[in-house]
Amino acid sequence: MSNPSIEKESLYGAHNYQPLPVVLVKGQGVYVWDDKGERYLDMMSAYSAVSHGHCHPTLVSALQKQAETLNIVSRAFYTDKLGSFLERICKLSGFERALPMNTGAEAVETALKAARKWAYTVKGVEENKAEIIACSNNFHGRTIAIVGLSTEPQYQAGFGPFPPGYKIIPFGDEKALEKAITPNTAAFLVEPIQGEGGIIVPPEGYLKACAAICKKNNVLLICDEIQTGLGRTGRLFAFQHEDMQPDAIVLGKALGGGLLPVSLFLTKKEVMDVFTPGDHGSTFGGNPLAATVANAAIEVLLQEKLIESAAQQGDYFKQQMKTLNSPLIKDVRGKGLLLGLEIDKRYPAREICLKLLKHGILTKETHECVIRFAPPLIITREQIDTVIKALQIVLQEAESELKNKTTLPA
Ligand SMILES: *Cc1c(COP(=O)(O)O)cnc(C)c1O
Repeated sequence: MSNPSIEKESLYGAHNYQPLPVVLVKGQGVYVWDDKGERYLDMMSAYSAVSHGHCHPTLVSALQKQAETLNIVSRAFYTDKLGSFLERICKLSGFERALPMNTGAEAVETALKAARKWAYTVKGVEENKAEIIACSNNFHGRTIAIVGLSTEPQYQAGFGPFPPGYKIIPFGDEKALEKAITPNTAAFLVEPIQGEGGIIVPPEGYLKACAAICKKNNVLLICDEIQTGLGRTGRLFAFQHEDMQPDAIVLGKALGGGLLPVSLFLTKKEVMDVFTPGDHGSTFGGNPLAATVANAAIEVLLQEKLIESAAQQGDYFKQQMKTLNSPLIKDVRGKGLLLGLEIDKRYPAREICLKLLKHGILTKETHECVIRFAPPLIITREQIDTVIKALQIVLQEAESELKNKTTLPA
């Protein structure tokens, strides 16, 4: 099974990932191809970064056209592209101000910095006393400040010390939030659905209740919509499943149209105004190439009705998964096209993913026992049926392997 691409990555790269043994060379729509010409249905879409599908022609041509015109100039100057991008996302989202960064983690860092400075300069918290509340089992990125919020031992092990000023509460429990808030609390940072944590959906009404608690206590509610935003869950933003509006959100992943890293921190004027020239920045954040691609990505999302598609196809996909009757299935959950299939711990989810790979389906386990199904939002019913058929076969195989193991002579 020796393959020069795999060998070089493992020889010269850091071993901070454990990729499935497939070398991708091409993508188009929901499909990707490997170096042997085999075609796969992409059920991962780069952790929801490829919602529009691979190499979307409108986005590729927007990128090409801008790439030939102007790309990187830094924020030391204005460009003709950034303002209209920020205007579009503000008008669409209902937030007054937007600050562009590149990766999701940078947008989360921006949110944390804004919340702290808002606490000192607006709320009146004593210097260096501001607290941020986050949830157990969260995923907000990989910087030192952010893994300091993590409750996953592996994400922290060997990387301390971490910044102080954090408090962790259980996810989905608004009473715990109310209890954790003190006069020093700046913000509550939460994912509307925990993605990396295993596609965990909180009880209905949770975000709305959190919003009321935050409002009462003058605490900012910040939703991390990096994975759940931009149509993924069948609404433009996942918080819109409930009748509420957070004080701020962070976006990333699909915002780059599957072509570039583009992220944003969006909030109200009162919060964004804490930043003054020199406080915060990014060399690449908001560059005209990124602004053009992100603007086009939003346009395509709306024009092609990808949000509605995610809702419809997601419902269908979830229903079909629920009809699979395998004793290995512990749970089917999620919203829109952010779905998780929880597998009995007796059978490793990674083995299921390796089997699906052989059936031309790409996906990856999260948290050992959950298989993620988060395809590009352009996926069709027929393509979903193909996945369901393969799942049926693979789960049956897994089941009989388990049976054979238990009937082995002692
Ligand atoms: C992926 C993700 C991030 C981090 O984004 P990067 O672009 O990898 O830095 C943050 N929060 C959530 C909810 C994510 O899913």
